[in-house]
Amino acid sequence: MNMKRVLITGAAGFLGSHLCDRFIAEGYQVVGMDNLLTGNLKNIEHLFPLKEFEYYHHDVSKFVHVPGKLDYILHFASPASPIDYLKMPIQTLKVGSLGTHNLLGLAKEKKARILVASTSEVYGDPTIHPQPEEYWGNVNPVGPRGVYDEAKRFMESITMAYHNFHGVETRIIRIFNTYGPRMRLDDGRALPAFMSQALTGQDLTVFGDGSQTRSFCYVSDLVDGIYRLLLSDYHLPVNIGNPSEITLKEFAEEIIALTNSKQKIIYQPLPKDDPKQRKPDITKAKELLGWEPKVDRKEGLKITYEYFKKALNK
Ligand code: NAD
Repeated sequence: MNMKRVLITGAAGFLGSHLCDRFIAEGYQVVGMDNLLTGNLKNIEHLFPLKEFEYYHHDVSKFVHVPGKLDYILHFASPASPIDYLKMPIQTLKVGSLGTHNLLGLAKEKKARILVASTSEVYGDPTIHPQPEEYWGNVNPVGPRGVYDEAKRFMESITMAYHNFHGVETRIIRIFNTYGPRMRLDDGRALPAFMSQALTGQDLTVFGDGSQTRSFCYVSDLVDGIYRLLLSDYHLPVNIGNPSEITLKEFAEEIIALTNSKQKIIYQPLPKDDPKQRKPDITKAKELLGWEPKVDRKEGLKITYEYFKKALNK
């Protein structure tokens, strides 16, 4: 009877589905909500038989109503990969703005604590490296990526406004590139693209000269950071990501080695406004949450490779 009840939006997506698993494992009642814009019910079908799990098919950019009490809300609904948000710019802006507004209203009504999923993209193409939370970013509002970056920047602003003006308990996480099982093979991000190319005998496509860097965090580490931040008493943004930085060329080479493939790397022009470097400063997460990543890239990539092999029936 005293079980805590959490609403997770974007529940059928990559991160949302792992969050559902974690909160069920921690003894919570989980209400998953999704409109399947980019998600897949396969990611959560194993939860449907559980009495601790409920699912609502709903677009959170429209008014959100959930009967019963809610202790926590995790707002993860949004197209997240460049391919998705370039195809669905208006939905992306709406879910970051109207969707966040609706969920903050719900948090206020239910007296629930809300954590919103922001992103390292709020730093844009950063001029400071690595990026601490105090850095305000370098974003082109009218560039193609602006629809995602600015939606998330608005999300952070309205979340702070609800905290300051209405006293809602809020948490803001800035997530850096995360990978693991249940990523979509065709979501256009570097890791699934490289793996599906390696597994289907195609050359690996690197954009630009491959010297741009990214830092990849394994999904279980990220989920642990989210869990700790939610239960903390800190309301300002916190970076969660793995600071181990790698160039995209080196990353493609690691995947060629891991998959034992004979493919080579081919180079294509860099997309507009593509960030040149990305590495989180995780001092705050370490100090405030006692969090740091535990899964190294080699181990995480192996698990993800097994998942993609199965997904492709290889
Ligand atoms: P995903 O596409 O796998 O999941 C997003 C989910 O949200 C999907 O199931 C989709 O159907 C759902 N959704 C989208 N619009 C909706 C709407 N209007 N109403 C209800 N559901 C809706 O993406 P993901 O990688 O799991 O990302 C989840 C969240 O984390 C996003 O908010 C994203 O911006 C953020 N994030 C992810 C990463 C990453 O590396 N994966 C990095 C930074 C931030």
